[in-house]
Formats: sequence, C-alpha cells, structure tokens
Amino acid sequence: MELFHISAECYPAAKVGGLADVVGALPKYQSTEGHDVRVVIPAYDTKFINENEFECVHWSHVKLGNFNFPFSVHKEKTDKLGFELYVIAIQELFDRKEVYGYEDDIERFVSFQIATLDWILGRREIPDVINCHDHHTGLIPFMMLYAHKYQKLKNIPTVLTIHSGLYQGIFGFNKLYYLPEFDLAHVGVLEWGNAINSLAVGIKCASAVTTVSPNYLNEINHSSNGLESLFNMVRQKSKGILNGIDEKVWNPATDKVLVSNYTIDTIENGKQKNKEKLCDIFDLDPSKPLFSFIGRLLEEKGADLLPQASALALAEHLNEINILILGSGNETIETELNQLLPDYKGNYNTFIGYNEDLAHLIFAGSDFLLMPSRVEPCGLNQMYALRYGTIPVVRRTGGLKDTVIDFEDGGNGICHEQTSVTDICTSIRRALKMYEDKKTLNKIRKSGMQIDHSWSSVCKEYIEVYNLIIKRNES
Ligand code: ADP
Repeated sequence: MELFHISAECYPAAKVGGLADVVGALPKYQSTEGHDVRVVIPAYDTKFINENEFECVHWSHVKLGNFNFPFSVHKEKTDKLGFELYVIAIQELFDRKEVYGYEDDIERFVSFQIATLDWILGRREIPDVINCHDHHTGLIPFMMLYAHKYQKLKNIPTVLTIHSGLYQGIFGFNKLYYLPEFDLAHVGVLEWGNAINSLAVGIKCASAVTTVSPNYLNEINHSSNGLESLFNMVRQKSKGILNGIDEKVWNPATDKVLVSNYTIDTIENGKQKNKEKLCDIFDLDPSKPLFSFIGRLLEEKGADLLPQASALALAEHLNEINILILGSGNETIETELNQLLPDYKGNYNTFIGYNEDLAHLIFAGSDFLLMPSRVEPCGLNQMYALRYGTIPVVRRTGGLKDTVIDFEDGGNGICHEQTSVTDICTSIRRALKMYEDKKTLNKIRKSGMQIDHSWSSVCKEYIEVYNLIIKRNES
C-alpha cells in the first residue's frame, strides 16, 4: 500500500509534543510491514532539517487567494527515519524556528495543505490512502472531494487522526477565498459555529476518523470544545486506536542519553545511577524519592495545579521528597513554579524550556511521574515512564484511563479522579507509602517495564482501517 501521512510535526525533524512522536514512529513501523510510506511536513528552520541532506523533487507556486508563494518539495536523501520524509518549503511562511504560535498560522497551514495537494496531484502515482493528522491538515479531505483542481484525487480514501480536539484551526469566512475554487453547493460543509473550522471539516469529509485512544473517543462525544454533536454524528466511521511508543527511541537498555543503561534485571542499580546524575544537576537528594513532571505547562495538562500541589507536598514532607519540573508554556505557571525555588532549595527544582535529552534522563532517574491532566487524548509520557520503570501518578482521563491502572487494582500506577490539588497530594502520599515498601515498589516497576506498548501491534489496527475504507470506496 502507498500511504501518505500529512502532519505539522514529525520527530525528530520538528517536535512540539506527542503528535511528532506518533508521526515519527507509526510510519516507520508501517514501512517495516512492507508498505510504501511517505511523511510530509512543512520545512521549518529546525536543526534536523538544516543538518540533513535533502534533494528537491518538485517546485512551483502555491496560490493562497490573491497571494502567490513559491514553494518546493524536498526529500530527505537517505530515508534514515525508516520512511520517506518530504518537507515543503514555502518562502516567508515556514522558514521560522517555531512550529506554531504565529499570527499567520492559518495562512501558513492552509498554504501547506494546498502545496501538498498540488504536489501529490502532479505525481505519477496516486496514493492508496492519505492519513491527515489534526486540524492543520483537516481541510485536505474537503479539498480532495470538492476543489475543481483536485478531482483526480477525489477517490483516494482519507483518514483524519485526532491527537487533540482542543485545537481546531478556526477562521472566518472572510478568508474563504484562500481555498482553491470548489463547488459552492458544498460551502456548508466548511461551517461549524459560524466559522470555518478546519478540524470539523476534516471530521465531516474524511473517509474515517481515528482518535489516539479508545477512551478519548468516548470522552469527545461528551466534551470536545463544541464538536460533541459532530462526533456523535460520525461515530460510525470513527475508531479509537491507542498510540504505541517507539521502542527504538525509548529503551532504557540502549538509550544513549542515560549515564547507566538498564533492564528489568538491573533496574535498581541503573535507575539509582541516573537519579544520582539528575540530582547532581538539579541539587536534589538522591536518597529521597523523586517526583517529576514533563510536559507543556498548560491548564489542559493540569500544570496550573503544580505550584500549589508542589508547595503543599513539600511543606508536608520536606525531608522526604524531591520534585523536579521540566516544561514550558503558560508564563504565569512558569513564574509560579519558579517562585517556589528559594523556599525549597535542595528538594525542588525546575527547568523551564524544552530539552529532549533531559526528558530521557528524567524518565530514567525519577521514581514517579506526575500527570494531573485535565485532558489527555492519549498521553505518551506515562508509557515512556512505565518503560523506564518509573511509576505514573495520573488523573483518570482519556488515554491515561486506557493505560494506567492503580496498583491497588493490580496495575502499575497511582490514579486519582479529580483535577485538584487535594487529589494530587493524596496520590503523592500513597506514592510515599509505596516507596517505603521496596519489595512492592520493585515488583510494580518491573511489571510496568514489561507492558507491551509497542507500535508493532498497534500499526495493524491502522492498516485495518485503511483496508476498510479502500474496500468501501471500491464498492
Ligand atoms: P502532548 O502531545 O499533549 O504534549 P504527550 O504526552 O502525548 O503530550 O507527548 C508529549 C511529548 O513531548 C513527549 O515525548 C514528552 O516527553 C515531550 N515533551 C513535552 N514537553 C517537553 C519538554 N519541555 N522537554 C522535553 N520533552 C518534552
């Protein structure tokens, strides 16, 4: 099967969060299953894109309403990621450091989608399936169905994979002219809540919709930022498929970032060495349990509760715990987290920023990983934590509910129901009790490391969806 994944992110070429991890891994595993897989992302000004060799395979102009931007398509020469990676360079719009967060993000991603389709249209081969990811690519299924110039592509089945329903790529009908000419009888398809909603458009037009965990699919029927009724309408063509993890990248036995690699048999010693390194860097005490948080410092992650929860837990257990936070995002949360530093020196520290290597070391060197999320479509961090023998402390929501079971119910984590400071602190207390009982702690750590969250099993579920929509399109 020839498959295209079209996305805003792909690890390691451009990463903000879990979307990149998925688009960097799923295609690799699909390739090893014998499929021809191509991933297309914008050409940002990132280290990977600048430092690797690409060859130009196509160039033209992308028309965005009255504007014309030159664009070119470049293929990474060696297929070192395990699939063909293509980056679309659109001058003025994507040669920037960040993936998102610009005022003209709508213009950027609409032109990326048009340029991608223009290029696919010009190729000799027609893909078997196009898998779009999140709202940045949500207009693609619509344009393939209704834009005059893409009629040759209209029978290609499409999948929209939703990694987050919170962000929807909404813009006014005053920008309708950005889209290539299409059959105006279908203009209503673009509308949701009196605006053009890229995610809603993708949900309506894709042949199939997938979410990144089964439980998230249930949740978005009740709570998805205004898209609830739409999700209910498309239930028939929707499926929740739990993300996997890339075991080649996330493996404590081979991870080059760790100061000591370890397996289930050597976890105690291996973990302690990584913890010592981490504690040395952040002035913490390696003889005490280490609770960490890694992620975007946003309300959806429950990060707004971390300053108060950390302060309370540290005040209650000052001589018993360490807390370490890695992340960036909301400036108020960043400031509040840093304000605790002078009071809890030696027990608490932060790294405000993004640091991939540090994240690996934290997974290895921590005892517990805090994930008090309000919304977690899948969540990869809890799976990385389990793989590194670190016990996830999570709020039961989304994919966390699918992947973390409380140790008192026979699972490998610590779970709470509410997104509240009280619940986080109660979980920390339970974690401390578990930490005192080294026999139980090690048993839980080891069984967590053995859980199979690999893509090998998951990627078959995607292929099943592709086969289904190919068959449906043929009949
Ligand atoms: P989301 O995609 O919602 O941010 P996920 O848990 O699915 O959450 O994936 C987040 C990914 O981004 C993980 O690989 C995580 O380790 C990584 N990550 C998030 N913030 C940081 C950071 N500040 N430094 C390093 N890695 C980070």
